[in-house]
Amino acid sequence: MLTRADHRIRVLLAMACARGHALLLLPKVRHYSSRVLACEGSAIPAALPTAAYVHLPFCKRRCHYCDFPIVALGESSSNAGSTMESYVDLVCQEIAAERSPSRGALQTVFFGGGTPSLIPIPLLQRIIQALEAKHGFSRDAPMEISMEMDPGTFSRDYLTEAIQSCGINRVSLGVQAFDDDLLKLCGRSHCLDDVFQSIEWIKDSLQNWSLDLISSLPHHTLASWRKSLEQAIAASPAHVSIYDLQIEQGTKFGNLYKPGMDPLPSDDDSAEFFKLGSSMLREAGYDHYEISNYARKGFQCRHNLVYWKNQGYYAYGLGSTSFVDGKRVKRSKRMREYAKFVEALAAGSPVLPESLEGSRTEAVLPESVEDRILDTVMLALRLAEGIDLRRFEAEFGSELAGILCDGLAEFVASGNVVFLDASRECTAERAGAVYGRLTDPNGFLVSNEIISRLFCLVK
Ligand code: SF4
Repeated sequence: MLTRADHRIRVLLAMACARGHALLLLPKVRHYSSRVLACEGSAIPAALPTAAYVHLPFCKRRCHYCDFPIVALGESSSNAGSTMESYVDLVCQEIAAERSPSRGALQTVFFGGGTPSLIPIPLLQRIIQALEAKHGFSRDAPMEISMEMDPGTFSRDYLTEAIQSCGINRVSLGVQAFDDDLLKLCGRSHCLDDVFQSIEWIKDSLQNWSLDLISSLPHHTLASWRKSLEQAIAASPAHVSIYDLQIEQGTKFGNLYKPGMDPLPSDDDSAEFFKLGSSMLREAGYDHYEISNYARKGFQCRHNLVYWKNQGYYAYGLGSTSFVDGKRVKRSKRMREYAKFVEALAAGSPVLPESLEGSRTEAVLPESVEDRILDTVMLALRLAEGIDLRRFEAEFGSELAGILCDGLAEFVASGNVVFLDASRECTAERAGAVYGRLTDPNGFLVSNEIISRLFCLVK
């Protein structure tokens, strides 16, 4: 059974990785500390979110590994248009009914799914208008408006319209594999020709685009993975995301395969894939800025950084989770219940706190101190810049910050952790350390063990 901490980690990672295939899920963390519980909490007031995630759940069909909340439309569904229109009505209603205390201008918007590129442009425009009317768009920093797009689901004209009339300025292309057999095996609705065509159109229109791959697919070998990486690098995207396949119960892969057993690669093979991805992409000039993400200078995904830094964000749509005012609200994955939630919100009814686990309805989870510590450490250590020790101390006090430093120091000798000073140079002086970070790739590969150890220490 999942513990509350396990569940929370899965929710966070699912939100943070738009396709929900987070690399290196943490093992179970069962104990909360009396020391943690005695900590009085943050000295840093929560800022209003500047990021909004919008879930657009429609796909042509369900891929064999996917357990996301989606609506499979079929290849030629006659009522797809009205289904999508009704859904966008709901999302716009939800945005308008948002109960955030006051208006704070958005700096990033992320359309995830599902396959957002199946949504007609006029419907996308309506969502953008609803977001701007509710929150305003920042004039201080350039907006980042990202959209996940799948090969074979859009035309050149669609892309041009999305850029020109919806302000989309970043695309995340779900390539997943450069191999027709693997794409077919995964139940993807696109083929390799679609991939190359989409890449050509995107490169003609945008510089800021990400190419998304999945590693550890059935039958993946180091040689075939190397070929995929070579083709990804040859496409020259500004950003690359690599998610390690997780076998989810209830999916076709979950019924067919057991994790770590043939034809799935072993854990050791997956570690080799991770190391190869890290070394090839870094050699090609990409900064490995987060466990699963690589970017050329200036092209980190600003929206996803909000998740990794454990900052607040709005979220709208089926199955999405928002984090506003220290509360996580998880919307139902069932359309009927999501619709009821929006109806209640629009009518001004209170949103009732409920247990997240097993709940089919929305849940409000007040962010407790122990949750915040778990979230802060777990998310920050996914980032190459690591955890900001001074900020951690300001938020949770010097005693816990000292324990965290002691815990990190245990992994310095093995080369899995380094401390950095204010100028981000490595330092052996823990006293002057400003950041603690995992090394790449070895520290990242054992992040589960390190984070579990840190939690044992503060209990
Ligand atoms: S396209 Fe993405 S969201 Fe849709 S079924 Fe496939 S993996 Fe899931």
